[in-house]
Amino acid sequence: MSAFKLAALRLGFRVGLFRLLQHAVRRRQAVILAFHRFSGSGEGHPQGMPIQTFAEAMEYLTRHYRVVSLRTMTDELGRGVVRPYTVAVTVDDGYREVFTLAAPVLQRYGVPASFFVIGDFVEGRLWPWTDRWAFVFEHAPRARVAFRHRGAIHVLEMREEKNRCHAGEQWLDAAKRLAVAERDELLAAIAEAFGVDIPVIPPGAYRPMTWAQLRALAAEGFDVGAHTRTHPILSRVAPERLRVEINGCREQIERELGLPVRHFAYPNGRREDYTAETVAAVARAGYVAAVTTVAGGNMPSTPSLELRRVVARPEDLARFAGSVSGFDEIRARVKRRALAPAVRGG
Ligand SMILES: [Zn+2]
Repeated sequence: MSAFKLAALRLGFRVGLFRLLQHAVRRRQAVILAFHRFSGSGEGHPQGMPIQTFAEAMEYLTRHYRVVSLRTMTDELGRGVVRPYTVAVTVDDGYREVFTLAAPVLQRYGVPASFFVIGDFVEGRLWPWTDRWAFVFEHAPRARVAFRHRGAIHVLEMREEKNRCHAGEQWLDAAKRLAVAERDELLAAIAEAFGVDIPVIPPGAYRPMTWAQLRALAAEGFDVGAHTRTHPILSRVAPERLRVEINGCREQIERELGLPVRHFAYPNGRREDYTAETVAAVARAGYVAAVTTVAGGNMPSTPSLELRRVVARPEDLARFAGSVSGFDEIRARVKRRALAPAVRGG
């Protein structure tokens, strides 16, 4: 984001623009926030939300919104009720720093969050493929590297830091559209070209929480939901594998925690990442509610197995306040409208 836009956001925050938007936009919408990673005290991932920012965000949230559990929110939506400025907090994937950094903050502010965990990741049987991807690009040499994949030669320009980030994102995006076998083959080809060995066990920044830690969180009253066994893009998964991913994760959590699992989160969660068939499989598995990353608030008319979320940006409190208030959604809508004639013309 440009310095100018960031300054505009901070000004909006200072003059109370986001509070006005909150009243206009969030009166009739229930908002589910999505967090992923945190950083602080040498723990978590460097690109995660600094834990101090998270603490400020939770303080802001509890002061200006009605913060409830996902269960309370979905019960209310099910009864056709939306109380103004209602927000629930969710954290995806189940990294270790959720226990060490984020949970103490949530406890301090009394935020009853839901944690969506990847079953096989917590079991220590895999690290999510997107993390293996990030690891390979983080450890790539600063060079121009060529590799062969399925008969074609590709060149990766990695001499500058910005090239590295760009190449990593571009190839990750391409990989999300591939079938699992081809995706893994592609990463293996890139890792080999870089000369990077992918460890079998996730290293430091990529470790999961343990079942014991999740049991402790559940005992504190936090909710634990399912996020599949291996975090595949479900729209790319063969129908016979859907049951293993969707029911399997629920069975793992119920076995380890001895508590019923009500909530599910789609990996990646954008509209193209799940299908009507995926939603039907989630319904058959018996989940009461499921969350996507399709941006927006929820109303009683929002399908309970396709609830929308607002992905919290890690930058700072002004950015956070903007995304919760609905500012980002309005800006995206305005941008789409501005671009629409050009698209039609082209
Ligand atoms: Zn995830």
